[in-house]
Amino acid sequence: MTNNAPDKHFRKRMAVPEFFGRSPDDTSAEEWFVEMRWPDGVACPHCDCTNVQDRAAHHNQRFRCRGCGRRFNPSTGIVMANSNLRFRDWLFAIYELRTSLKGVSSIRLHRDIGVTQSTAWFLMHRNRAAFTDEHRSFKPLASLGYCHAAVAHSARAYCGGEVHTNGNESLWPMFKRGYVGTYHHMSEAYTGRCVGAFVVGHNIRPLNTDKQLASVAARMVGRSLPYRRLVEA
Ligand SMILES: [Zn+2]
Repeated sequence: MTNNAPDKHFRKRMAVPEFFGRSPDDTSAEEWFVEMRWPDGVACPHCDCTNVQDRAAHHNQRFRCRGCGRRFNPSTGIVMANSNLRFRDWLFAIYELRTSLKGVSSIRLHRDIGVTQSTAWFLMHRNRAAFTDEHRSFKPLASLGYCHAAVAHSARAYCGGEVHTNGNESLWPMFKRGYVGTYHHMSEAYTGRCVGAFVVGHNIRPLNTDKQLASVAARMVGRSLPYRRLVEA
C-alpha cells in the first residue's frame, strides 16, 4: 500500500480542546453526523427520496419522508441505530479510537463519557463493526485523497514498485502493544473484529483527524451489531 497523503510530520491531529470546540454539545455532534451522512442533502434511508421534512414533530425521529411517509433520524440504518447514547458520545468514542494508536479500553471510555463500562464496551464493539467489511472499507479512502493498491499474494508477489508488504512489520508490534497495554484480554470470538478494526485504522492513520472521523462515519452506513448478536458470539 502506498499513499499520497501528507507526510506524517505535517499531518494535522485534532487536539482535545479543538474537538470540544467543534462539538460543544449534542446538537452540534448530531449536525456533524447529518453532514457526513448526507453531504448533498438528506435522503430517506427507506426509499432514497430527497423530499424530506426536517424537524417533523416527533420525540426522536426528526425527519419525515414526503415520498414514503416514514420517519427517520440521522442514526437510522447505520451502526448507531437503536442506541440510547447521545450523538456526542458516539462522536467522542470515534475520536478516541482514531487518535489513540494502541486503542482505547472500555474502562477508559466509561470514565471519559460517564456511561457504564458495559455500555462503553458495547459502544466500542459497534464502532469496530464499522471497520470489518474489508471490501467496502477501503472504498472511501480514494475520495479522501488516499491511494489504495494491492499486492498479488496469490501470485507470490510481495513487492510491486511502491506497493509492498513491509508496512505489516510496523502493524503487528503496534497491535501487540495495544493488546498488552490497553485491552489485556481479547475473547477469541471478538478477535477478528478487533484485528479488522485495528488494520483499517492503521491504514488510514496518515489522514488528518478530520478525514479519519469522516471515514468512520462513511463506514457506519448499512451496518449493525445488535447486543444479542454480540453477546451470543
Ligand atoms: Zn422515504
